[in-house]
Amino acid sequence: MKYVDEFRDAHMARGLVTQLHAAAAALPRPVRIMEICGGHTVAICRNGLHAVLPDNVRLVSGPGCPVCVTPSSLIDAAIWLAQQPGVQVFTFGDMLRVPGSTTTLAQVNEHTHSVQMIYSPLQVVQYAGDHPDQRCVLLGVGFETTAPMLAAAVAQAAERTLPNFFYVSAGKMTPPVMRALLQDAGVALDAFIAPGHVTTVIGAAAYQFIADEYHKPCVVAGFEVCDILDALVRIVRQLARREQRVEIEYTRSVTHAGNLKAQALLAQVFMPCATAWRGLGVIPHSGYALQPAYARYDAHKAFALPVVEEIEPAGCRCGEVLRGVCLPYECGLFGKGCTPTRPVGPCMVSSEGSCGAYFRFGVQP
Ligand code: SF4
Repeated sequence: MKYVDEFRDAHMARGLVTQLHAAAAALPRPVRIMEICGGHTVAICRNGLHAVLPDNVRLVSGPGCPVCVTPSSLIDAAIWLAQQPGVQVFTFGDMLRVPGSTTTLAQVNEHTHSVQMIYSPLQVVQYAGDHPDQRCVLLGVGFETTAPMLAAAVAQAAERTLPNFFYVSAGKMTPPVMRALLQDAGVALDAFIAPGHVTTVIGAAAYQFIADEYHKPCVVAGFEVCDILDALVRIVRQLARREQRVEIEYTRSVTHAGNLKAQALLAQVFMPCATAWRGLGVIPHSGYALQPAYARYDAHKAFALPVVEEIEPAGCRCGEVLRGVCLPYECGLFGKGCTPTRPVGPCMVSSEGSCGAYFRFGVQP
């Protein structure tokens, strides 16, 4: 497959590992590099990259799984919505199994039949048009990759003047959380691998502050094994030379400016707002609120959603895993009380969650 097979080539991968070790030999001290994206975490675990890293290069996972960073209070609010008469709640699959404070959307749905899994947000617009007797609520969970689809659904519902379509704003932005991590002295990162799909939308220029203000390298990478190894070689070379640049490894998709059409749609429908992240608290300008022109679709206002206390499962260290200060196998529940079939926290539920990826691919200390 063009643009994929050449980035899975084993010979090329071995060559990049050799280059990585050569570059790391020039590092003045051990370094910690965060792959911010859950898709990268899965690719790193699947390809066994932790095992081939030089001793002085450590990879830590970040808060780049949208399901994992959704606070339990929002899941509780979605569960409350699903229990209201005449309401259907729509969400992507992984959200169904994430524990709220007492139950999950999937468990509630066994009794209410009011939660539907979607593949595209536009399905909700279609359903709302076909079922005017039901109030249809779209849970807007996702990063910049998903946000244009969520925006398109809201815009399309407005064009059709659907009175029974509602939206829960829970989308998140990547650069503000990277800034928050850089400001967190307990995290202590030396560089970022940035997500290729998010950056295809927002453009690599969105990370320039990482080099300019925090003097750290940031390389935008694709999701194949050679993409990630190439990004690591570029980062380690920068660190060894005391350079700080934003580089694009994933040139087959990413530009500095990004997708201007998608950005225009996002600006039409959403505006930045402070939002809560699991494990990281409230981060300014990191969420997507509806623009005033679309405020009538805001489920928070239409349903007077209850304010629910944030409750983390006992013993779960997801918050620390999401900040990169705890590796999944350092949690006392990992693989014991918490497994993909019986998850305790969201990082074990989601297909892009760090704990799930470490467990499925057997990543060891
Ligand atoms: S292993 Fe389970 S309980 Fe521990 S941090 Fe991960 S998801 Fe939470």
